[in-house]
Amino acid sequence: MKNVMEAVYNQFMDITKKLENHYRDMQDVEFTIEHGKLWMLQTRNGKRTADSAVKIAVQMVNEGLISKEEAVKRVTTKQIDALLHPQFDPAALKKAKVLTSGVNASPGAAIGQIYFDADTVVEMHNEHKQDCIMVRPFTKPDDVHGMLSANGILTSEGGATSHAAVVARQFGVPCVVGASTAVIDMEKKTLTCGDVVLKEGDWISVDGTTGKAYEGKIAVVTPNIEDMPELNTLLTWADEIADLQVWANADYPRDARRARSFGAKGIGLCRTEHMFFETERLPIVQRMILSKDSAGREAACDELLHFQRSDFDGIFESMSGFPVIIRLMDPPLHEFLPSADELKEKILTLKVSSEYDKNVDLSELPELETMLAAVEALHESNPMMGLRGVRLSIHFPEVVKMQVRAIMEAACDNKLRGLDPHPEIMIPLTGTVNELKYIQPQLEEIAKTVMAEKGVEVDYMFGTMIEIPRAAVTAGEIAEVAQFFSFGTNDLTQMTFGYSRDDAERSFLAEYVDKGILTENPFQHLDRKGVGELMRHAIAEGRKTRPDLKVGICGEHGGDPSSIEWCHVIGNNYVSCSPFRVPVARLAAAQAAIDNPRK
Ligand code: PEP
Ligand code: MG
Repeated sequence: MKNVMEAVYNQFMDITKKLENHYRDMQDVEFTIEHGKLWMLQTRNGKRTADSAVKIAVQMVNEGLISKEEAVKRVTTKQIDALLHPQFDPAALKKAKVLTSGVNASPGAAIGQIYFDADTVVEMHNEHKQDCIMVRPFTKPDDVHGMLSANGILTSEGGATSHAAVVARQFGVPCVVGASTAVIDMEKKTLTCGDVVLKEGDWISVDGTTGKAYEGKIAVVTPNIEDMPELNTLLTWADEIADLQVWANADYPRDARRARSFGAKGIGLCRTEHMFFETERLPIVQRMILSKDSAGREAACDELLHFQRSDFDGIFESMSGFPVIIRLMDPPLHEFLPSADELKEKILTLKVSSEYDKNVDLSELPELETMLAAVEALHESNPMMGLRGVRLSIHFPEVVKMQVRAIMEAACDNKLRGLDPHPEIMIPLTGTVNELKYIQPQLEEIAKTVMAEKGVEVDYMFGTMIEIPRAAVTAGEIAEVAQFFSFGTNDLTQMTFGYSRDDAERSFLAEYVDKGILTENPFQHLDRKGVGELMRHAIAEGRKTRPDLKVGICGEHGGDPSSIEWCHVIGNNYVSCSPFRVPVARLAAAQAAIDNPRK
């Protein structure tokens, strides 16, 4: 146009500049040129892709057209989320056949061949270099190695805070859970969705952003944050505006490094129990559980000490200068042992086969029988409300004592190497201050002993999770002992509503939302009226006792924009979420501050 009608071109450029400056936004204009005369027909704010939304917002600040606050408000958290996760090519998606759908538990697109157990996934991934999708009714802690090797996960049961969902989000593995129309036959190893029957090795595509799974392979487009300078600029402005800091939930040094690269200012939850499932460690953990007395448990814990110390050493090193909250052991012990059914089957097989074949080796039998007795003794009808969290620490203090020693030894070693560790030790599932009064002084004693042994002081704190309604109600008392609070909103939601976090989404929550009984899934978006008010009360009461009480959130809601806004409103200091959700949380924290200025 410039070459063929320069004057009209210059006029057009002047007008569009004027329009963009007037509307302070990118314009979608319609125009025509007739007999050399320019006619402007229409203008409106232009639609844009997520990538362009970020670029336009940043460029408009740089041109002086809008403020940083306006730029931060012009990009939605959904757009950032979409930008950072692999997506299916929209054209290819149109032709794909939907197999099933469920809860969009961990965003991103993945393709792979389906396998039904963790060991096969690991083998296919490591030895045959296959792209795998792990398909199971639900996952358990001993499936984690398979989940880490899989490109994606599909389960037919569970909801947004089920084991599969939490682990997948933390590791950034696309995941759909609770796909209840999918029938998974673990014996035949088939996945049936309507009239399609898939077997091991068949390809599927899983979209954790939308909660859908498709037949076959769909082309994937993968973004890279390093190639997005404008996004980094926008998020730096977001950090300047936000009152809340964004921290990350990370269990391993690799996740901590990733969290830092995404802009996390601390680790808000390191779940130490995941570390106990590694191959060399699990037998020691099982020996500890099976010990008859404290001396036996201590001996097993002594063997675990150096593993834990090296885990923590790496995390402190990657997070030098930043706070790291390490949570002491939380889950019920039976999670570390095989199931009673599995053990019974093994025992029976050994016994029956020995009747037919005198050469069958029965040396394993006594150990299996001891383990079965322990599993039966540990059986609880409702383990999520049973012997776990701080209750376990009081019942079997050996493990948490070892953990505190490992944390403090690693922190002191880091300090002696010239680094700047800030351990914050978190006691889970407190319900009454008396639990803390009983256990915390014993643990503080260990912290002091280690520092004296190492001849160095580190800056450390002891705090607790607020995840039982009674703890929230009595937070004033709890803050007499706890130096910080972190809301465990997965459990707090479960226990406030009385809905099982593992089953509710599969059984009745969707129906409740459909029928308008609930407006949304409270495991994904914080319930402000109930759970949220308990949190507000806990902060107010806690700070009456301890005015400088630092408060965070580390349940799955910590990465959800609406829940982040609530945390800002009630006066949290930070939110903590999986590393992959950190950029979204940074934007959400800034938007919350703009919409709800703190007085
Ligand atoms: C919680 O309950 O919110 C929490 C973070 O702990 P977990 O999910 O490990 O029970
Ligand atoms: Mg919890």
